[in-house]
Amino acid sequence: MMRQIAKKVAILGDMRVGKTSLMNRFISNTFEESYFSTLGINISKKKLNYSISGEDFVLTLYVWDVMGGSNFQEVRRLAFENVDGAMIVGDLTNSASLKSITDFWLPSITESSGNKEIALILNKLDLLGDALGLYTEFISSIRTEWGELADEWVAMATSAKSGENVERAFYDIARKILVSSVAPGNDSTAPEGVQDYGSIGGAIRKISSDLEFLLGRRDNAVIEESLKASTLDVRNPLREEFDEFLKILANHLESMGIEEQKANGYLEKWSRLLLAT
Ligand code: GDP
Ligand code: MG
Repeated sequence: MMRQIAKKVAILGDMRVGKTSLMNRFISNTFEESYFSTLGINISKKKLNYSISGEDFVLTLYVWDVMGGSNFQEVRRLAFENVDGAMIVGDLTNSASLKSITDFWLPSITESSGNKEIALILNKLDLLGDALGLYTEFISSIRTEWGELADEWVAMATSAKSGENVERAFYDIARKILVSSVAPGNDSTAPEGVQDYGSIGGAIRKISSDLEFLLGRRDNAVIEESLKASTLDVRNPLREEFDEFLKILANHLESMGIEEQKANGYLEKWSRLLLAT
């Protein structure tokens, strides 16, 4: 018999460490050299097959790629909710990003709720000739600080660019999540709210790509500003709030010299993106 289970993993870490790149490598086996900051939350999913003690599982892994900016604490908090596991990413070539794993990301995720699987991912391995020393030193400092807890964590050096260890990292953390959730006494339901976030996330991504076409360049700042100025709550996006957000966005576009008629056409289209009320 085949069991279907859904689980949620968040990818966390400072800006530019390679969170989006790791997700893209894992989900679609692609890599981009150029950098675009992630807008809000990107949610993707992938089905993984496992066989555990003779039983077959199809695990639908929802991967949440969360914007790192400090203005988006609220978005980040939502990502932590009902999370089954977290991949905490640092950049091997950026020591500040490694320091914030210990100082910020590990404390926030372990405090925010109880039993979660954690993977420590040190990315951009391709940029270092020999990363073994740095990697070993970092992992042992984590073990000193976090003790037995840390023995359970997946730890890996990866390269989203070459693909090295990326698939393994996702498979390993997902397997741990699966094993702990199918252990006797644990239920295994789909993470709540995925649909809601998916539709608002999808709507905002669509707006972002339309804007790129409209403006001739990628400009997520205008969306971020409009989101901040509106009362839209991504956890429970209401029709009126979404319309308010679109109105603010339209004002921005007008002030950027987009013709009213053209902007209105897009507005109409965008207002249909969020069907849930
Ligand atoms: P995020 O802000 O954490 O989502 O980071 P991104 O995934 O957007 O990556 C930031 C920059 O680092 C982009 O220019 C990527 O092309 C680059 N990058 C990401 N992962 C790697 C990697 O493993 N190796 C190298 N050389 N560059 C990477
Ligand atoms: Mg990103």
